[in-house]
Amino acid sequence: MCLLCLLGTVILFSSCSRATDKQPTVQSQSVLRSALEPLDVKSGNTPPAHADSHIDSKRAFQYTREVTAFGERYIGNENHKKLERYIVDHIKGDEVEDNAFTADTVKGKFPIRNIIAKFPGSKDGIIVIMGHYDTNYPLRGTGYVGANDGGSSTAILLEFANQLRAGGKKRAGYSVWLVWTDGEEAVKNWTATDSLYGARHLAEKWEKDGTLKKIKALMVMDMIGDADLNIDRDTNSTAWLLDLIHSAAEREGYQSHFYAREGPIEDDHLPFVQRGVPSADVIDLDYGYNNVFHHTPQDMMDKVSAKSLEIVGDTIMETIHMLDQR
Ligand SMILES: [Zn+2]
Repeated sequence: MCLLCLLGTVILFSSCSRATDKQPTVQSQSVLRSALEPLDVKSGNTPPAHADSHIDSKRAFQYTREVTAFGERYIGNENHKKLERYIVDHIKGDEVEDNAFTADTVKGKFPIRNIIAKFPGSKDGIIVIMGHYDTNYPLRGTGYVGANDGGSSTAILLEFANQLRAGGKKRAGYSVWLVWTDGEEAVKNWTATDSLYGARHLAEKWEKDGTLKKIKALMVMDMIGDADLNIDRDTNSTAWLLDLIHSAAEREGYQSHFYAREGPIEDDHLPFVQRGVPSADVIDLDYGYNNVFHHTPQDMMDKVSAKSLEIVGDTIMETIHMLDQR
């Protein structure tokens, strides 16, 4: 019996012994599932085949490095424009849609541009993967480059584009849309109206034009490059989608990096959750001891790892595969 199974058994026993009518905690549920998995295999319940598509994590890491090398990329600045061109260059030849508008903020008007790459599928419905590419505005001028917060999310979507493109003209499953969102960060203090500029605009637009109804699942990638990776279980997200992501992580053997902590997180998924779209925020919101690297000039390449990009990248590719089969 492996140590993890042993641990699972101990937790199972201890929660049984409490003889409570409450639901087990999230943590014990997921450990429990890991502990039971070998039994399922024995009883002939073998899980369906893997997607077996692994991202090129070295390349994703290189993208993170290139994106970060542009420097501060807050809304309205020159480096932000350079990064827009860098993203658009990368998806040249794919089906691309621009969603640009002017945001009215407490710091004035800013051009905001969501960039969407669409990879059509044979099944009716859309899986949306989002990640913001702007860096924190209040930290402008401090040398803040957001390797993890802004860099890793931009990069992993670029790598997802490579993977989805490699599948040929039409995917065997749902259409997948990648959205590089803009203006995720607040310009002054995070509030419902000073944050998520790009995502709020897109959710409104997609509500009006009927796109929202077609979305089977929406997943946001944010701060997923942390070398010490612990993805949070966000209680604002849709529970079944979080569970599916966990199952995908288990198939890849990465479940220990998921859901040790839980709590409500506000991110680009919120405007979609509020409109009834099944959505999950995939985020590690504990960046460095006591989150000391988050929104500080210490958010640099040395805190990010290719392995973390691989863990999240492979898990999300597997999640897409599992969604395709539903
Ligand atoms: Zn941020």
